Amino acid sequence: MKHFDVVIVGGGINGCGLLRDLALNGVKTLLIEKGDFSSQTSQSSSKMLHGGIRYLENLDFSLVKEALEEKNLWLKLTPHLCFEREFYLPLYRYSKYAPWMLEAGLFLYDFLSHFQNRPHGMLNAEETLKAIPSIDPKGLKGAGKYYDGIVDDAKLSLECLYDGLLENDVDALNYTEVIETLKLDDGYQVSYKDLLSGNQETIHATFVVFTTGPFTDSLLPKLKIPWKPQLVPSKGIHLWLKHDSIQTTGSVVLTTKDNRVVFVIPQRHAILVGTTETPVDQDIFNISATQKEVDYLISILKQYFPNSNIKEDSIISTFAGVRPLAKEESHSSSLGKVSRHHKIYRPTSHCYVMIGGKYTTFRKMTQELAREIVPRLNYRYKPNLTLNPLRQHSIVPTFSEHDPLNLKMLQKIISTERVKTFDDLISRRLSIIEKAESLKDVMGLSVDQVKNLLKR
Ligand SMILES: Cc1cc2nc3c(=O)[nH]c(=O)nc-3n(C[C@H](O)[C@H](O)[C@H](O)COP(=O)(O)OP(=O)(O)OC[C@H]3O[C@@H](n4cnc5c(N)ncnc54)[C@H](O)[C@@H]3O)c2cc1C
Repeated sequence: MKHFDVVIVGGGINGCGLLRDLALNGVKTLLIEKGDFSSQTSQSSSKMLHGGIRYLENLDFSLVKEALEEKNLWLKLTPHLCFEREFYLPLYRYSKYAPWMLEAGLFLYDFLSHFQNRPHGMLNAEETLKAIPSIDPKGLKGAGKYYDGIVDDAKLSLECLYDGLLENDVDALNYTEVIETLKLDDGYQVSYKDLLSGNQETIHATFVVFTTGPFTDSLLPKLKIPWKPQLVPSKGIHLWLKHDSIQTTGSVVLTTKDNRVVFVIPQRHAILVGTTETPVDQDIFNISATQKEVDYLISILKQYFPNSNIKEDSIISTFAGVRPLAKEESHSSSLGKVSRHHKIYRPTSHCYVMIGGKYTTFRKMTQELAREIVPRLNYRYKPNLTLNPLRQHSIVPTFSEHDPLNLKMLQKIISTERVKTFDDLISRRLSIIEKAESLKDVMGLSVDQVKNLLKR
């Protein structure tokens, strides 16, 4: 039976980030992912590397500070996958905050970043209308301006994975589901099934780590891991809109009447709009947006951008994900207020589970786990290794120049970036947000031609 020091179950950002950290520290690691890597929550976020300006309201300064440090780190380490951009927070006569309060908050945000953020500013109504021509002018007092990061969430997870896979004795399997675990005195026997071929295998691992995000509560009891539900799952959807549907020079942060936050983020050739926050009780694997949720976001946009031309056909595509928020002793009735801190559990001597947190802070979260596991395997943990740049970049970077797509590039992506299905290639390796049928315009290749490449 094959042996690994650590088996990681779940290949979202937390699984991929942990694999990288363990691999760089010389740990023999296998990651097992049921779908494609980063195909669930970690490709369905609002795609922001951010401190979370609204968590200042909860006086969560330590979380904001840590997230700002991480945001500024990744902006430096992976400029091909993320960039900084301005966010406008419009203020109306009915807004809950006076301009001086907003300015104090923005100053605190910059202060907590050790002034590494580009500096904030305050705009009057006229300047706000110039920056966001589509915004409702009625009762507009002005806006606060601050800076956060935009990231290709799926690709950053993938590049962490590729970096870890460059080390010896490290591997990762996609479209492979963990179906059974058996606790032994010296670790675990882990059985998994390749969902494309149907093949099954059993291996031995000293430690099993679950980074299964919102899937954790339903999965662990099935695998007979001692576990009580720890999640407050919260669904959020997003829309990609055509870039001409709203006129704005930067991102806009809307505070809705029900005190929710909706982001409008121009990115590349489209505008990302989100998100919602609703409880979930359905199967959440490959979850999608409902018409009711789409209508809700459209109604908010129509309210704040009354002169814009948003119609059903302004929507390029939609996506949804479930926040794996960790339950607290006295958790707030508002999902938006549930803490974004993460939690690490040790249900048995050789098993760890990590849930909660945010995408932005994944390196810190996984570091906490690696710091505990590595010495238990008799290796010395080196905390600075994850501060180095990622060594294997995607062939098609999201935010930097690259050659126009051609057949040779596609073949290279398929052979070096662990692509198994058409969707892996289109959605995550090429970051195409349009529907598959529009591929011909993007690459000059039909869907069938691309699928044939994958069969070879
Ligand atoms: C709507 C929304 C917006 C967000 N916006 C932001 C944002 O802008 N910035 C930010 O910092 N954070 C944001 N977040 C939070 C962030 O996306 C998550 O915290 C993060 O992606 C969670 O990653 P994960 O690896 O824990 O989970 P996931 O990415 O869900 O990974 C878990 C993986 O486990 C796999 N799995 C499940 N069962 C099995 C099994 N039996 N065998 C093998 N694999 C299995 C799943 O297929 C899945 O890929 C947002 C989240 C949501 C939902």
